[in-house]
Amino acid sequence: MENRERKLALHGGAKAKTSPFGKGKRFGLEEAKELLEALEQNTLFYHGGKKVKQFLHDFNELYGVQYSVAVSSGTAAIHVALGAAGISVGDEVITSPITDQGTIVGILYQNAIPVFADLDPHTYNMDPKSVEARITDKTKAIVAVHLAGNPCDMDAIMDIARRHGLKVIEDCAQSYLTRYKGRLAGTIGDYGCFSTNDFKHMSTGDGGIVTVNSGSEADYYVAHAFADKNYQRFGDAVSRDLTYLAPNYRMTELQGAVGIAQLKKLPWICEQRHRYGDRLTEGIRDLPGIEPHRITEDAWSSYWFYMLRVDEAKLSCTRNEFSKALAAEGIPNSAGYIPKVVYMQPLFQNKQAYLNSHFPFELSTASYEQGLCPVAETILETAVRLPVNEFYTEQDLEETVQAIRKVAEYYSR
Ligand SMILES: *Cc1c(COP(=O)(O)O)cnc(C)c1O
Repeated sequence: MENRERKLALHGGAKAKTSPFGKGKRFGLEEAKELLEALEQNTLFYHGGKKVKQFLHDFNELYGVQYSVAVSSGTAAIHVALGAAGISVGDEVITSPITDQGTIVGILYQNAIPVFADLDPHTYNMDPKSVEARITDKTKAIVAVHLAGNPCDMDAIMDIARRHGLKVIEDCAQSYLTRYKGRLAGTIGDYGCFSTNDFKHMSTGDGGIVTVNSGSEADYYVAHAFADKNYQRFGDAVSRDLTYLAPNYRMTELQGAVGIAQLKKLPWICEQRHRYGDRLTEGIRDLPGIEPHRITEDAWSSYWFYMLRVDEAKLSCTRNEFSKALAAEGIPNSAGYIPKVVYMQPLFQNKQAYLNSHFPFELSTASYEQGLCPVAETILETAVRLPVNEFYTEQDLEETVQAIRKVAEYYSR
């Protein structure tokens, strides 16, 4: 009630946020020690040194998986998974239209066709009903993007995949230690793909990891070779027979070294973000016109970001006005996430992945017109995205909640 009488900062009132957001150092002597050891090895090549091996060993232990491959980026991780899964020319791969472009790059490099499924309006993850509706006799895989730390409905997706004989690749670039019904995202599908670029929960500058979840050593070897120009470095012998096309996506010892130290911090980072996001929802869930970021029951999110939606029918402001008013209160945010759904990008509108070519689109009847995924399009038009950080404090949380409440109550009809 009090809030309603409070003048918005936008109109010259006092800001809800009274102090700067918490900050912290992501890297310290832990990383420096590992880096020095890497240099003292006198090699920075993953196969010659111990750091990438240790990094993967620790990752496998944390995730309870047997096999993983270190790569140079999250984009590379997804390409490796697709290549190792045998996704190839003209195959259709169903994925989300709200994601980083790294999700679709590997699909097109395999000359496969991205097909976009619509999303759940509040979790922002793929709606299994839409996934199933997009299946054709060319469909070979689903790339399930766990957006912003929040898991997809994996039971439904795995069930669809089994019934249609599809591979499932989990894009976990934004979803470290995310849990779905007690299982870690990235361990449920055939492959789990992670990014360690500098913006993710943990950073090695750039880098990525692919988990190979079948438990088959042969599958692991294929994924491993796919990231290393098809070199087979198993046991003592190295085979360089070129049996199929594979890029060089190797991780260096420097990245592995930093990764070892970062991985030790990861559970704390994810726990902080989890608490922050869930408590933000607690603080705003009763507000008319504000739709919190929904985490499904039995799911655990590590909130790479927090994205709420504004119901313009219940407020006397637009989404953009809401975003501006919130920013004026001292709460940084962005109106929406990516500028447009992925299929509205020129690459899809022009059906041109390669300069001077329309391949592989000319093999496909997949369409990319406006309105293809109406829910996803509406999400981007009505969302307000708030950064989440492991160094944010109790006061940051409190004042963010108060700022959202102040703005929402001011504009409530
Ligand atoms: C960051 C990201 C990627 C790509 O990772 P890079 O390491 O930047 O190549 C892929 N998918 C999603 C959902 C991402 O957020």
